[in-house]
Amino acid sequence: MSKSNASVSTDCDVVLIGAGIMSATLGVLLKELKPDLTIEIFERLDVAAAESSDAWNNAGTGHSAFCELNYTPENENGFIDVSKAIKIAESFEVSKQFWSYLVEQKVLDSSSDFIRTIPHMSFVWGNKNVAYLKKRYEALQQQTLFKEMEYSEDPTRLKEWMPLVMEGRNGSEKVAATKMDLGTDVNFGSLTRSMFDHLKKMDGVKLHFNHEVRKLKRNDEGRWVIKAKDRTSGEKYKAKGKFVFIGAGGGSLTLLEKADIPEGKGFGGFPVSGQWLRCTNPEIIERHQAKVYGKAAVGSPPMSVPHLDTRMIDGKKALLFGPYAGFSTKFLKNGSYMDLPQSIKLNNLVPMVAAGIQNIPLTKYLIDQVRQSPEDRLSALKEFLPTAKLEDWELEIAGQRVQVIKKDPREIGVLEFGTEVVCAADGSIAALLGASPGASTAVSIMLGLLPRILKEEMKAGAFNDTLKKMIPSYGQSLNDNEQLTDKIRNHTSEVLGLHVNV
Ligand SMILES: Cc1cc2nc3c(=O)[nH]c(=O)nc-3n(C[C@H](O)[C@H](O)[C@H](O)COP(=O)(O)OP(=O)(O)OC[C@H]3O[C@@H](n4cnc5c(N)ncnc54)[C@H](O)[C@@H]3O)c2cc1C
Repeated sequence: MSKSNASVSTDCDVVLIGAGIMSATLGVLLKELKPDLTIEIFERLDVAAAESSDAWNNAGTGHSAFCELNYTPENENGFIDVSKAIKIAESFEVSKQFWSYLVEQKVLDSSSDFIRTIPHMSFVWGNKNVAYLKKRYEALQQQTLFKEMEYSEDPTRLKEWMPLVMEGRNGSEKVAATKMDLGTDVNFGSLTRSMFDHLKKMDGVKLHFNHEVRKLKRNDEGRWVIKAKDRTSGEKYKAKGKFVFIGAGGGSLTLLEKADIPEGKGFGGFPVSGQWLRCTNPEIIERHQAKVYGKAAVGSPPMSVPHLDTRMIDGKKALLFGPYAGFSTKFLKNGSYMDLPQSIKLNNLVPMVAAGIQNIPLTKYLIDQVRQSPEDRLSALKEFLPTAKLEDWELEIAGQRVQVIKKDPREIGVLEFGTEVVCAADGSIAALLGASPGASTAVSIMLGLLPRILKEEMKAGAFNDTLKKMIPSYGQSLNDNEQLTDKIRNHTSEVLGLHVNV
């Protein structure tokens, strides 16, 4: 590797750090709204979407909360809270509208198969879980976005829906399932790469691979100065930007700490790694056609709800089970074991310790997961596929998630499982922390960021027409409007080639 101290310096309107789905979405949105913007994008790896956004690193679920049971908790009075599920389902409809617009604009190739229809199902066993699923179904049936949901306790019906899951099952056990044919599998990696391919061809956009952002600081003129290093040549690169988005996935916390803004104080991160079992037997892969979600084990974090997933990756069908949670001190899959220790600062030490004390059951759960033998993993898989054999499955490493720890007035520090956008009061810098429900809601997250970074223009409604062109339901609730929901869903299904077999 040739080392050089040569330094390049440029000026731009926007700096995007990280080439994952979040930066891609924001970059494309901003260029649609303000085509003259100059944007510089820095990615430490040699390709876009190689961390969490890559298809093999996430579960590829188009999260609509159709069947992921962690989004519909039951409270102590037996009431099913569907508010989070509605919000997630709305967000995914927004994503589909934006992607449809990009297909219509020929930014995305409609034949690239980045999104496919695949039924989403919940599957539970035991009286208590069956009663919960039935109640959940009854609550969601009243919501427009979930009206197509089907429910059954009939083993013959369930065999039609998921033959492999029902095969070899003891007939005396009570089971139930729900099904949504509108479910999707999304290759967020190929979607992200397509968006960057588009961006880098646009006037005013520069995409730098192998460039790791090491420092960021605000100068006296109020501009952000970003210092990056070319990981192949050692060359230094300096960019000055009016606005910076830290979309570095697990690496965002470290960069937010470097930005040293008051709004970023007290944030910490807790890394949770993941593993899948990947089926190697083509006959088994062929016989399953659904994403089947179960109920999380007691004490487990919400994102570790196991699921048996049909995937379509680069035109090939695959079958994954998991994720099994794990623990590593890395914040990125391609990161350093020093990430967690180096992220601990004076301002986040207390919230991190407080969150740690409150989450001892989670730590214990993660330790148990890490210590699992192949046989332990097989027995978890057998709850879904009773006839599963170890020789048909191999272990794969999934992406790394960094859960958000933040200050809390009552609990001192709390561990959260959602995403958090931290934005400076003046809107000059924003960072995205956390990972759930993640990529599926990228468009809504970025729409939520716009009023914070383009304050005056958004307040004046300057972009309303363009936003409505991109997202026809912009500013309206779909769940409250059945006619609009049907219209939007029909349109996005047609443009995205989502064929629902009802
Ligand atoms: C196991 C697992 C399963 C998941 N399943 C789903 C799912 O089914 N559906 C769903 O919607 N979401 C899912 N998610 C979440 C989803 O993958 C993430 O929310 C999403 O990919 C995050 O995108 P991002 O752009 O923020 O981060 P990333 O895709 O991680 O991109 C961040 C980029 O920043 C780069 N970077 C980091 N530091 C620097 C630096 N200093 N300088 C330059 N570049 C830097 C990284 O190399 C990386 O390319 C899952 C995540 C995991 C881990």
